[in-house]
Amino acid sequence: MMVEKTDTLVVGAGQAGIAVSEHLGRAGIPHLVLERARIAERWRSERWDALVANGPAWHDRFPGMEFPKTGPDGFPGKEEVAAYLASYAARIGAPIRTGVEVRRAARLDGRPGFAIETSQGPIEAQNIVAATGAFQKPLMPRMIPEEAGFHQIHSCHYRNPAQLPEGAVLVVGAGSSGAQIAEELMLAGRDVYLSVGPHDRPPRAYRGRDFCWWLGVLGKWDMAAPAPGAEHVTIAVSGARGGHTADFRRFAQQGMTLLGRTEGYAGGALQIADDLRTNLDRGDANYLALLDEADAYVSRNGLDLPPEPEARDRVSDAECITHPLRSLDLAEAGITSVIWSVGYGVDYSWIKLDAFHPDGRPLHHRGVSPEPGLYYLGLPWQSRRGSSFIWGVWHDAKYIADQIGIQHKYRDYHTQAAQQAEDA
Ligand SMILES: Cc1cc2nc3c(=O)[nH]c(=O)nc-3n(C[C@H](O)[C@H](O)[C@H](O)COP(=O)(O)OP(=O)(O)OC[C@H]3O[C@@H](n4cnc5c(N)ncnc54)[C@H](O)[C@@H]3O)c2cc1C
Repeated sequence: MMVEKTDTLVVGAGQAGIAVSEHLGRAGIPHLVLERARIAERWRSERWDALVANGPAWHDRFPGMEFPKTGPDGFPGKEEVAAYLASYAARIGAPIRTGVEVRRAARLDGRPGFAIETSQGPIEAQNIVAATGAFQKPLMPRMIPEEAGFHQIHSCHYRNPAQLPEGAVLVVGAGSSGAQIAEELMLAGRDVYLSVGPHDRPPRAYRGRDFCWWLGVLGKWDMAAPAPGAEHVTIAVSGARGGHTADFRRFAQQGMTLLGRTEGYAGGALQIADDLRTNLDRGDANYLALLDEADAYVSRNGLDLPPEPEARDRVSDAECITHPLRSLDLAEAGITSVIWSVGYGVDYSWIKLDAFHPDGRPLHHRGVSPEPGLYYLGLPWQSRRGSSFIWGVWHDAKYIADQIGIQHKYRDYHTQAAQQAEDA
């Protein structure tokens, strides 16, 4: 069988695959992008209907193109993000082939490069860039058995309130997805229980500037690793309804029942950790620390940004916070659905190389695997905090394309030297 050959095979045509294609193209490195579904598939089919980007349009985009419909301070909807990425790919002429799944990649025997099996036949490539996403495999704890009869889904399968059976809803996890889904359900008239773990909740905006701007000028998007002890802290932000700060105490005043971290389930009852107040206080401390840093930045730089003392007002605590539940009988509470918003894992089982941590996470430095020729893109904290976001991945993509280019120089040295010797 004829084996197709390319220099660099990029797997996945989300924002990461498109960004690296742009940089490889600029560097003159021949490549092919294979996408098992459609361009930006996860934005199309793995996000809820009302999702809008977490960052404003001026920020959450590639440097070379603006969002055509949403103004700079607006929050584009998920379909607009997908359309943006597809038209960006068309604009740069990215060599993307959709509907082709990469099923296996292993080293070639006795020569450099990889043998790749795809749903449309074999390919050989010198390099692989795995751009298959930071959020690949929904994590679904098997805490509540199926026989308990609740409608249980992961947040990636949530679409809208009408999709759920009548009744109250338990949302487990209060990062950006859990917080937004819980609020959407509450506003749709559902009784909502939200299990809140450790989180950061930056102000949506402060003194007239979005938090994305503040994190940028304060150097926080560039942090190389999460602060010690904050590795498992999620971030709750929302661009929904024009963008507002995720304020769990306000949710509780509006009727949502907040719970501490979900610890277990037995005899029809959820077991809840005694950490709700600690988690809320920690979230508040993170919020207030950012306001302090922003104020200090304003005075240090003599900026004319309107003071906003009301941003420090605290909503009073509802009963669910002053008397937190440690156990909740789900049926008694009228709960019929459970939405697990507890994050995602990765799945690189198609890469048949010994270059992974025991839990399946790839070994790498800034996306460069210790296995020569293997690269990753779009990983959380790949080089810094911004790495898994649209604007951040573009810069990591440049680094990866540079690394591939550097290896080309070594690979081509012999050929060039031999040619020069022949010409002399
Ligand atoms: C709910 C949610 C909201 C988010 N909101 C924002 C936001 O507002 N702003 C922001 O900047 N970031 C946001 N992110 C983070 C990040 O931008 C997205 O997760 C984004 O989709 C990641 O892009 P990616 O290209 O790295 O991966 P993905 O979008 O996951 O793309 C990977 C692609 O690889 C394909 N693929 C996977 N395996 C194979 C295979 N074996 N063969 C071929 N193709 C394969 C998939 O079909 C997919 O299209 C959000 C994430 C989530 C989960």
